[in-house]
Amino acid sequence: MDGEASVFVQDAAAPRRPEAERQAALRDPGFGRVFTDHMATLRYTPDRGWHDGRIEAAAPLSLHPAAMALQYAQLVFEGMKAYGLPDGGAALFRPAENARRMQRSAARMGIEPVPEALFLEGVRSLVRADRDWIPRQEGASLYLRPFLMGTDPSFAVRPGRDYMFCVIASPAAPIFGSTTKPLTLWISDTLTRAAPGGTGAAKCAGSYGASLQAVAEAGREGCDQAIFLDAVERRWIEELGGMNIMFVFADGSLRTPPLGGTILPGVTRDSLLILARDMGLTVREEPYAIDQWQEDARSGRLTEAFACGTAAVVAPVGQVRGRRHEFAIGGGQAGQVTERLRTALIEIQRGRAPDPHGWVDRLF
Ligand SMILES: *Cc1c(COP(=O)(O)O)cnc(C)c1O
Repeated sequence: MDGEASVFVQDAAAPRRPEAERQAALRDPGFGRVFTDHMATLRYTPDRGWHDGRIEAAAPLSLHPAAMALQYAQLVFEGMKAYGLPDGGAALFRPAENARRMQRSAARMGIEPVPEALFLEGVRSLVRADRDWIPRQEGASLYLRPFLMGTDPSFAVRPGRDYMFCVIASPAAPIFGSTTKPLTLWISDTLTRAAPGGTGAAKCAGSYGASLQAVAEAGREGCDQAIFLDAVERRWIEELGGMNIMFVFADGSLRTPPLGGTILPGVTRDSLLILARDMGLTVREEPYAIDQWQEDARSGRLTEAFACGTAAVVAPVGQVRGRRHEFAIGGGQAGQVTERLRTALIEIQRGRAPDPHGWVDRLF
């Protein structure tokens, strides 16, 4: 298997929903509610290696109830998007970064990694099969969810033997809408997301599961999202449950917490840091304490803050609340630097601006 075009064999008999039904679903897709007609699947067994690649009907999976993924959360995933281009084509954005990150996530969870070429081919084959599902309205995209899980039945607490790689796709409107409605964050100072030596840098299902109580708490407090502090001192800002965070200062500098095993290395984070440097901003990857954030927001030293990730791209933060904190940022409005960075990234992703870093991966 060397990633040739024949690895994922398309099932020509897989049903497609009628045009009218698809159009209706694409009009207001929301996020993660509507799924396309197909999925990509690929199997691994120790004796055969990776095999049986298919583009087949998106349908419920048949899994043994004792499958490693179900019993011990031996499952990692990715989140990426296919974007419509102005000429009617479509592109992925830095897809090799997702392929490599899934390999690192897999290694952390004792999972057999998918070779980069097969990951990319699975994603590309699926988008080509479901090309009519790429929404074309402003800000919308086709969200792609590759995932990889242990399928062999076992109660033994050791890595599994058999794996399944799967890619599903879901048309998505921008989840947080425009930058006109900034997020309100709830500081999770009792529940943590990641500890040194833990799984915080892996995109694994278990990390998300473990964040949901904090998300629920944030909701009860009238906030949109939870923001997590470090597990050791409960002092350093880390990230949201599914997005990284960045801070903008009056002196024109941009700061974000450094990667160090407890923070998920976002592709959006990395891209924005590069674009910020291109714009001449001073970029610092340095720890930032929660008390300092409050002090700087109140003094005006800090002017903007935003969360970032593939799904929402850039989401400004307007309010922050917790048991010991309460402050507003930039008068609760989206800031200029946030807006500039967001626009710069989106214009590249959608093929409307030059792509000096070679990030855009045209599919057709
Ligand atoms: C996926 C994810 C991000 C964002 O990563 P992107 O590659 O930018 O989408 C940030 N934090 C967590 C915890 C994540 O799971």
